[in-house]
Amino acid sequence: MTHYDFIRKALQLASENPQQHGGPYGAVIVKDGEIISTGVNEELKTNDPTAHAETLAVRKACQQLNTLDLSGCIMYASTEPCPMCLSAIAYAKIDSIYYVNPGSDDQESVYRRLYERATRMVQLNPSNE
Ligand SMILES: [Zn+2]
Repeated sequence: MTHYDFIRKALQLASENPQQHGGPYGAVIVKDGEIISTGVNEELKTNDPTAHAETLAVRKACQQLNTLDLSGCIMYASTEPCPMCLSAIAYAKIDSIYYVNPGSDDQESVYRRLYERATRMVQLNPSNE
């Protein structure tokens, strides 16, 4: 199977998911030419803002392989992963990401908003209360 076969699977999952009341996003994780896990967007169905296709695929792959380390795996995603999913993919040490559709029209604004929120984080030291 080629990169295009796996990305077609991610696109198929994405196109079918709205029928299951999910967003049009799909992801596939492959290791040694075999599909280890798939994910679709389940945010609305589960009231879970972290239930993105890529993050769910990472969770399932880690459970499937019984590891936190997905080195040697490849992610195929219908859409460019958002910052949250990109973080999960990086923490799981997935080697490569292939995607078809660009993410937000203004991906820079997504990162800027995250940075602005992050600047509201304040580290407290209880011994200095
Ligand atoms: Zn995401």
